[in-house]
Amino acid sequence: MPEYTSRSASQLAADGPLLADEHAIDPHASAASRRGQSDDIRQALRDEPADGPTRQAAASAGDRDEGAPAEPQFLELGGGTHTVPPGGNLWRIAEEIYGDGSLYVLLRDANPDDVHDGGRLVYAGAVLDVPRIARPMLDGLAAFSDDPERQLDVVSGVSQEDYAAFIAGLTAEEADANAEMLQTLEMMRASGMTLDQLAEDQQRWMETRAAAEGLSIGGFIQQETAARGYGGATATWWPSLTPDEQRAWTARFEAAVAAVEAAAPDDIRAILDEATANGGGFAWEPQVCEELGAFAFNNGRHALGVGRAWVEAVETDPAVTFGNVAHELSGHQEYGDTVGWAIISRVLANLPADEQALARGGANHIFSAYGYMETEVFAELREQEHLHPDNPTDTPAQDVPRQLQRIADAFSPTVADAIVRGLWRRVESSPHMTDEARQLFVEQVRAVFGIAL
Ligand SMILES: [Zn+2]
Repeated sequence: MPEYTSRSASQLAADGPLLADEHAIDPHASAASRRGQSDDIRQALRDEPADGPTRQAAASAGDRDEGAPAEPQFLELGGGTHTVPPGGNLWRIAEEIYGDGSLYVLLRDANPDDVHDGGRLVYAGAVLDVPRIARPMLDGLAAFSDDPERQLDVVSGVSQEDYAAFIAGLTAEEADANAEMLQTLEMMRASGMTLDQLAEDQQRWMETRAAAEGLSIGGFIQQETAARGYGGATATWWPSLTPDEQRAWTARFEAAVAAVEAAAPDDIRAILDEATANGGGFAWEPQVCEELGAFAFNNGRHALGVGRAWVEAVETDPAVTFGNVAHELSGHQEYGDTVGWAIISRVLANLPADEQALARGGANHIFSAYGYMETEVFAELREQEHLHPDNPTDTPAQDVPRQLQRIADAFSPTVADAIVRGLWRRVESSPHMTDEARQLFVEQVRAVFGIAL
C-alpha cells in the first residue's frame, strides 16, 4: 500500500478529517539539507569575468501564467500495516514512515497489543497498524530532507497542477526560508532523478564525450576547464609596482570605499551594513582580481574583493558600482553553494584518484567551469535594478545568456535542464528580484534552451 500520497485542502475537507488534525506537527525548522562542499576554490571564484560579446535581451516579454489558485497541499503519510524488522523500534519506524520519530506515539497508541513497556519494546515480526496522517506538504518534504529518494518519490507523485498549487500556496517567508530545498525538488521533478542520479547521468555523458575525443574523463574535464573556465591568469600589474606605488593605490582604494559609502542609497547601505556585520565588506585584492580576470569578487564570506578597475570606476562616479555591490554582496552571497558544483563534486568523488587529479589539474579553476554559472546568473539578475548607463562591467543582458549557454555546454541535456529549472525556482522566489530581472531570465532561458518557464 502507498505510505504517502498528496491531496489538496479541498480534497481533505471532502474526505473528512484525518488524524493529522489532532496531532498537529510543528513546522520543521531546519532548512533543506546542505550540500556538502569542501572545495576552497569556489570561495575564490565569485567573480566578474572580463567583458565578452554583447547580446541584446529579447525585446518583448511573454506574460507568465499565474498558475492555479493557491490552496494548501497536504502529504498523506502512513496507512496500511508495517511489519517490524529485526532490531526495529517504533522511533525508527515512525521516522521512516512519517519523517518524524517523535510520531512513534501514533504507532504506540494504535497498537496496544503489540507494543510493550510504554512504547519502548516491540518484537520483530509484529504487524503494526499504521495510522494515516496528513502533513502540510512543505513540512512533509522537509521531514525527508535526509532521504532524497523519498523526496523524489513524493514530488514525482504530485500532479503538475497540485505542485503548482503547492508552490503558489507558500508564503514569501516559507519560499525564501526553504529556497535551496525547493530548488532541489524542482530539479527532481524536472528530471525524475535525485542529485546522485543526475551526477551519474552527467558522468556517463562526460565519459561518452571523453571517449569520442580519445580522452579519459579526467583529461576531458581538464581540457574543458582550460577551454571554458576562468581564473588561471597571472598577476602582472600589481607585482610590478614599487612599495610606494602600492601604498598610493591602497590609499586610492580607501578613498573609493569612503566615496561609495557616502553616496550609497539606503538599500545599498543596508547590503554593506549586513556584510560588515558578518565580518566582511570591501577588501583590497588587486592581485587576486588580476588572477581571476575579475572586476570584483565575493569570497563567500561577505567580503567584496576589488582591484584597480573597481577603484578607477568609483573615481569616475561611485554610483556606477552600486550594481556591483548588489551583485557581489547580495546576489552571490544569497545564492550560496551551487547545484552544478554539487553534481560535479559527486562525479569527481566517483573517479579514481589519478583521474580526479587530472580533472583538477587544468589551467583554470574547475569550479569556474561547472559551479560558477548559476550563482553568476542569479547575481547578474540581482544587480538589474541598479544598472547604471556607465556600468563598468558585464550587464545582465550580456552575462545571463552567456552563463546560460555555459550551463548548456558543461552539462548533459538532462542535468542542464534540471539546473535551469531549479535556478528558476530561486529567481522566482527570491525577495530581492525585480519583475524585470525575472522577465529577463525567462526570456533568455527560452532563447538558449527553448524552455518555456
Ligand atoms: Zn559575479
